[in-house]
Amino acid sequence: MYWADELALRVSGPQVVNDSKTPSGTVHVGSLRGPVILDVIARALRGANVVTTMLYGIDDLDPMDAAALLTPDAVERSMGMPLAHVPDPARDGHPSYARHFAQAFIDTFAGLGIHPDRYYWMSEVYASGEMDRYIRAALDQAAVVRDIYERVANVRHPAEWHPLAVICENCGRIGTTIVTGWDGERVSYECRPDLVRWATGCGNSGRVAPFGGRAKLPFNVDWAAKWSLFGVTIEPCGKDLATAGGARDRADAVAREVFEREPPLRVDYEFLNIGGRKMSTSRGHGAAAHEIAEVVPPEQLRLLFLRSRPNHAIEFDPHGTDAIPRLFDESDRLAAAVAGREVKGELPADPDRLFADVLVDPSADAAAEAAAYRPPFAHLALLLQVPGVDVRAKVEAEKGAPLTGREEAILQERTAAARRWLEAYAPQRSRMEVQRDALPPAAAELDAGQRATLTSLADSLATAPWDGEALQAAIFDAARAASLPAGRAFAALYAAFLGQSSGPRAGWLLASLDRDFVVERLRAATAPDTLPP
Ligand SMILES: [Zn+2]
Repeated sequence: MYWADELALRVSGPQVVNDSKTPSGTVHVGSLRGPVILDVIARALRGANVVTTMLYGIDDLDPMDAAALLTPDAVERSMGMPLAHVPDPARDGHPSYARHFAQAFIDTFAGLGIHPDRYYWMSEVYASGEMDRYIRAALDQAAVVRDIYERVANVRHPAEWHPLAVICENCGRIGTTIVTGWDGERVSYECRPDLVRWATGCGNSGRVAPFGGRAKLPFNVDWAAKWSLFGVTIEPCGKDLATAGGARDRADAVAREVFEREPPLRVDYEFLNIGGRKMSTSRGHGAAAHEIAEVVPPEQLRLLFLRSRPNHAIEFDPHGTDAIPRLFDESDRLAAAVAGREVKGELPADPDRLFADVLVDPSADAAAEAAAYRPPFAHLALLLQVPGVDVRAKVEAEKGAPLTGREEAILQERTAAARRWLEAYAPQRSRMEVQRDALPPAAAELDAGQRATLTSLADSLATAPWDGEALQAAIFDAARAASLPAGRAFAALYAAFLGQSSGPRAGWLLASLDRDFVVERLRAATAPDTLPP
């Protein structure tokens, strides 16, 4: 059974599903896995008639601990400050560092069909006083929390340590303060220069009532407090937090022992790796969630995350590879299978269920969507590079019928994606410029076998059906007749038409050009006066 349906069967009563993100910099595409899983869980629950609320939170009171995106003069000033209090480094109108990076990330959700019922910002939740009762409970039971850290995570805090970080009244940092006492009304705290390695406290100490946004619970305790505050019943958990004794285990124990509530059901998920590595938030140019969303349309982006079960890692390397065209091909294969057409290659388990979940609109007619004509992405990328081609007419000719309104929209979406891919991600072999005006000098280097192949190809192309598949077959036939390896035949065509040694699929390249030009160019490339001296 599909994993999300399995989960929906295990619960009873209304459900609250939640996920959150610390906005410590540019958010990597892999961070979309949590929200996509959250959405699929909510869809499965609602599909099973379970009343469901979906929440998404931004942990913007967490301390700034990554210097990568700060200007050098801002590093010393900002490290250790709440992310909500650090200025927007891009200065493009956001009230804070946290808002700048979180907004670019959550702005991608709606396009992906992910619509939380509520977004919450922890700086606002703390300021509203809603967290005060949990702060009080954690301080009253500081010894229990210290014991949990030691028992679950083998982390020993000194007896004076209390589970709270105050915003220093002098320097405004939150990552550098330790609470050393609690009298039931106010806490004593110190802002220590050496509490953490990544930020330097100012040395101030004071006593303050830690409510209404003046302090924040540590990560694990804050997590458990949110479950109580919002009544969370299901929460996905990324691999980095899901380790034994890790953040989630600690939060589970705090929920049970301090806030007296069973923790939510957890759905652990693996990372998405770019080129074999887990990308950190601040690295990975061109791999930000909002950048990938510009080149991979929603249906294909959802598929990237959903084609594997949550507990399987995803490998994705969009730069200089065919990873994006392959993702489109896989998406087209899935649609074809759902539409009942014959499909080459392996299919994921439960294709119908998966296809319904990759659609942006959960109420869309899946059968109609699957039946829509989808122009192959690589072919579209090729057509876009041939001057003078009427792409829409070519695509309609391939479909063999006029495009429907929906197919028109798919074509436009894919055209935009292919343009963006060619600009920023495509490998060199997929980029080309047809040399229309003159035979490229590279054609003078063709050997006898290549010339023989092009000569016989010119003859057969004078009458061959003019589509990619037929022309690809004609190229193979001509090469075989001249005893030339197919790769050498393709190289000859790239030399004659593009003036380069590699290129896109040759049959489709020729089909994108007009017959007279192709035949004429083949003859010119093999004319005796082009022979090397
Ligand atoms: Zn300070």
